[in-house]
Amino acid sequence: MNQKALLFCLSLLIIGTVFQSFSPDWGFFGHKRINKLAVFTLPSDLILFYKKNIDFITEHAADPDKRRYASKFEAIRHYIDIDHWGAPPFNEVPRKWLDCMMAYTDLLLINENADSTRLFITGPEEIKADSMVTYLGSKISMDAYRGIFITHIMDTYYEDERKIKSCDFLKDLIPELDKSCTGVVIVDHFSSYGILPYHLLKMQGQLTKAFESKNLNRVLRLSTEMGHYLGDAHVPLHTTENYNGQLSDQLGIHAFWESRIPELFADDNYDYFVGPAVYIDEPRDYFWKIILDSHELLAEVLANEKRLSQQFPEDQQLCFEDRKETTIKTQCRAYAEAYSKSMNGMVEERMRQSIHAIGSCWYTAWVDAGQPKLEEMEYETTEAEDKSKETLGEKTRKIFGRSHDN
Ligand SMILES: [Zn+2]
Repeated sequence: MNQKALLFCLSLLIIGTVFQSFSPDWGFFGHKRINKLAVFTLPSDLILFYKKNIDFITEHAADPDKRRYASKFEAIRHYIDIDHWGAPPFNEVPRKWLDCMMAYTDLLLINENADSTRLFITGPEEIKADSMVTYLGSKISMDAYRGIFITHIMDTYYEDERKIKSCDFLKDLIPELDKSCTGVVIVDHFSSYGILPYHLLKMQGQLTKAFESKNLNRVLRLSTEMGHYLGDAHVPLHTTENYNGQLSDQLGIHAFWESRIPELFADDNYDYFVGPAVYIDEPRDYFWKIILDSHELLAEVLANEKRLSQQFPEDQQLCFEDRKETTIKTQCRAYAEAYSKSMNGMVEERMRQSIHAIGSCWYTAWVDAGQPKLEEMEYETTEAEDKSKETLGEKTRKIFGRSHDN
């Protein structure tokens, strides 16, 4: 498709969506828009399949958010509170998932009297060194520790209570192990602060495998969900403990930035021509760069709103607006416009970068899978849709982890 034709398609798409009714949960608006537009960054080998399924990719863009009601393991995939761990460049946070888990997981030995003792001294520094100290003062090599971590600890990640009911697996590693040891409790100190960049890399691998196994249902579902998490990664407030301004007296800034501003201005004012998808050489570095770039923008996101809230007439900051059958209180249009202007197109730029990143990740997975011909692959829409319904929780149920709705 040439540039003009592409622009024409995009404008039809945008005009078409202006008249959509708005969901009261505004966060969904941006995700849907971003996923939909990512399709148009794809090369000719891929675009037909993605275009054929553009309604699915759009409609299901917010499924991972809905799933936060169904699983406590879901919420942490949407963010990383990188500032909890230190300051840029965040060397305290190992970029590899295994290293990160080894650095921030405690293994507690339990004995007959139910006393617990920390088994290893772990942290990012120990991970870099080639040996570490056990609770009895003897040293073991990092390779040996890595070995037991991979075989015995990592696969307990999704268990509700992480416990190994025997100490046998430690015997070879620590000959002087306490005979009264009855088991090991595994305590993860990292995950509750968010695992977004690690989850992106995992999904990239899964998407590549889905292409390799020629399973189009899976390709479709993973592409759609990957789009969601990539969108989240581009939002500065998804990289901080102060994710909703609760630590700086700016409660509600999360939805203001990522929902209210796009909802008001994304249709008329944003330029969505982001250029073609590109191949990503190093997905891990790529995902981390997105997170670090987002985090770099955080100071501006917070400071500009703070300044504006002090300068702008107080009674003109929040307005009542009718939505379907309800009236809601939200940032006034003029206030949102002033905030958006103060950030110099930042929201638009992060949206554009999300769109380009999503197309590039889809394209990269396909290339890494050996560029399979999509028309020769298996495809059943209904199964993909059933699968995604199956995993969703009900909106009325309690959310696990944090919510950005207030
Ligand atoms: Zn999310």
